[in-house]
Amino acid sequence: MAMNKKSKRRLVAMQRILIAGILLFSVSLSVILMFRDRLSLLLVSNVQTELLDITRQNSMYVDRKIAGIFSSMEYVARDLAWSRDGTARRVRYLTEVNNFTRVGAVDIYGRGLEGPDIRMTDFPGIKLSLRGERKVVYTKRTAFDNLNAMVFSVPIQMQGFIMGSVYGILDVNALKTMFNFSAFDGNDESFIIDAEGRMFVQARKWELARYMDSYLAGWQQPDAAPELVRLYTKVRQNRYGVERITMPDSTQYYLACRPLSSVSDLYVLDVIPTYVVQERITGILNSVTFILGIMLLLLLGGYGYSEWRQLKSQERIYDLAYSDALTGLGNLEKYKLNMLELVRKNQLKALAVIVVNIRGMKAINDFMGYKFGNTVLQLVADKLKAGCREGESGYRGNSDMFYLMWRGCDRGELERRLRELLDGITEVYAHKEGSRLYLTAGVYIVRLEDFVSEEEKRKQEIASAVEGQLNINAMPVEYGGMALDVDESWPMDVAGNARLAGKQIVQQNCNAVSFFDEKVVKKMKQEKALEDGFQAAMQNGEFVVYFQPKYDVRGASPVLSGAEALVRWISPEHGFLPPYIFLPLFERDGNLETLDRHVFELVCRQLAAWRQEGRQLVPVSVNVSRRNIAQGRRFVDEMERTMAKYGIDKELIELEVLENDASVDEDTLITFLRAIKSSGFRIAMDDFGSGYSSLGLLYGMPIDCLKLDKGLFDGWQEDMPDSDTSLVRHIIQVAHETGRVVVAEGIEQKYQVELLRRFQCDYIQGYYFCKPIPADEFAEFMEKERL
Ligand code: C2E
Ligand code: MG
Ligand code: MG
Repeated sequence: MAMNKKSKRRLVAMQRILIAGILLFSVSLSVILMFRDRLSLLLVSNVQTELLDITRQNSMYVDRKIAGIFSSMEYVARDLAWSRDGTARRVRYLTEVNNFTRVGAVDIYGRGLEGPDIRMTDFPGIKLSLRGERKVVYTKRTAFDNLNAMVFSVPIQMQGFIMGSVYGILDVNALKTMFNFSAFDGNDESFIIDAEGRMFVQARKWELARYMDSYLAGWQQPDAAPELVRLYTKVRQNRYGVERITMPDSTQYYLACRPLSSVSDLYVLDVIPTYVVQERITGILNSVTFILGIMLLLLLGGYGYSEWRQLKSQERIYDLAYSDALTGLGNLEKYKLNMLELVRKNQLKALAVIVVNIRGMKAINDFMGYKFGNTVLQLVADKLKAGCREGESGYRGNSDMFYLMWRGCDRGELERRLRELLDGITEVYAHKEGSRLYLTAGVYIVRLEDFVSEEEKRKQEIASAVEGQLNINAMPVEYGGMALDVDESWPMDVAGNARLAGKQIVQQNCNAVSFFDEKVVKKMKQEKALEDGFQAAMQNGEFVVYFQPKYDVRGASPVLSGAEALVRWISPEHGFLPPYIFLPLFERDGNLETLDRHVFELVCRQLAAWRQEGRQLVPVSVNVSRRNIAQGRRFVDEMERTMAKYGIDKELIELEVLENDASVDEDTLITFLRAIKSSGFRIAMDDFGSGYSSLGLLYGMPIDCLKLDKGLFDGWQEDMPDSDTSLVRHIIQVAHETGRVVVAEGIEQKYQVELLRRFQCDYIQGYYFCKPIPADEFAEFMEKERL
């Protein structure tokens, strides 16, 4: 059951961790995805920048090259303006430095100054240069060599007067070497285009070149493809632009474009298929996602591990705080917690709180050692736990106090279950240890409705009355809905009632179950009143001594040989009270020693009075409670002072000490008895045979008399076999052998007297001869007996 709760708690915690984990996972995942998205955008723009960079490089190279070509040509043109000498050599020089396939010079009519005549219509660029501009024009299949070429031309002029033009023809393919082809793993293609979209310098891949050529035709026109329009607009505004275009066959490319600065209307265009970019980006994104994923997994793992550790340590703390280390049962804190939880849940109408106690646990610990005591506690705990059903639980309080929370409120059923459980424990223990272990159980049936506050009840009544009036669902008021008027101390109050019920058990040496009821409370209250009334009773002289005669049965007929002083409380309030009612109460708060001294004084005073009256006195035994043993010599001194006060001899007083029990250790008892003995008192050991003492104990005890407990004769019957009386016979024999006399107590029957006489018992005290009687009656009795 406890296990169930533990695993339930664990399950809840796991659920919590799982939910938090899922939450963490989804948050992190969306962050990663968002990041991936952003990164992808960043990468795209990065790629675009890179692309533009390549374009810039390319355009710079081309510009520089073109500028170089032009300046070399202008240099030659200037020379030619001054003199034609060496024209052929200079023109050759131009061919060498510029890789021209052909170089020439013409006058304004196209007549060859160097090289052949040309038709102006074939070379519109040259025609334009005659207007004073340097010019480069792309010409497909030039008139000379049928080459795709760039025709460079610069005017030959002097003092603003144009004399002709120097031209050079450059195979476009020569420019290709200037382009950076290593970018994007060689997937980048560079072109130079003019305003109409014609290609000056073609790409390496002629297929793409052809493709682009037709796509780009008229790219600056307003009716061109929208992405081309956009590209051109950007180029015009910023002197650069990048666009993603989709070709008719739906392949996609990035186009980056820049105008050349050395020649108007020429543009460097870089083309790269989007899949190249995409692959690259996806590659980066995948690695980044992978790393983030690993980090997320580590994070989740770390989170899960730390939560698990925390759960474990919480469980450990919980165990330490709420369970009993020895038995594994819940402790009192846990009991309180569960009781309050029960109230909070408000489902049960009634339950039983049971306090189970092991009889003689202290003696077990003292005589058998704590280790053994612990195994007893464990055994009992295990059995109690096993005796709990679904929804019930067991706890261990202090020492040998166990608490059970059981369902149900049927006394008969509860008693049957409890008896079965306790008897089961006794049986198992007997089987294991060969001796008897008994337990007591005090039961308090908690009817939770008793704890509903008056206010709450009133509210419910009003509510039900209103419902009744309006006739809406005139249902009975459900207890389940009512708030209970209990506080933190309630669980222990309730357990206190169960404990009280347990304390009421009077039967000895058996398992016993007792239910709390109002009578029990009343009795408790009475006991409390008695306890509280001690001082007043002492002052008012309410304690009186009765005397029970004791007979010497050794002779032919019994002879009165003494008496035992037995205290009685004659209370105006409570009536006549025998000692078993009040002595245990006084034992609890230390009044017993006071009472013993008081009784001793009353006896001495009585003896002195009888002597005064001239009566012949018999020895009187006075009971000394165990409480006095610890006082040792002090007690003896006080007794002696009292006797001296009344002039009573020690032969007239015998002290009765109870046989030892677990509360006094043997050495202390022997020291005490020696102190009494050495001051000359006779000592009787009372109630011998009722408890733990053994005959062996007799040898070391300085006692004169053994008082056999009534219990030894209780099982006797007339005409029983000898074997049934052999114990008593044996005790008497050993007592005599060790020089003690024997008194048999509680003798009521004639056959008992006869048997005891046969066994050579020395004295008999019992109702058979006389009950305890008041002092004046006893005085008369003495007179009578003496006659
Ligand atoms: P105890 O010292 O063993 O006293 C004998 C008890 O047995 C007395 O009970 C007596 O009335 C009872 N008794 C004697 N003969 C018979 C019999 O034939 N049948 C039955 N059923 N009972 C018999 P009582 O007077 O009720 O005292 C009970 C116990 O209280 C005493 O047992 C003694 O231990 C204790 N006690 C009595 N007076 C004092 C006292 O002044 N001081 C102390 N410390 N204890 C006292
Ligand atoms: Mg006695
Ligand atoms: Mg006795």
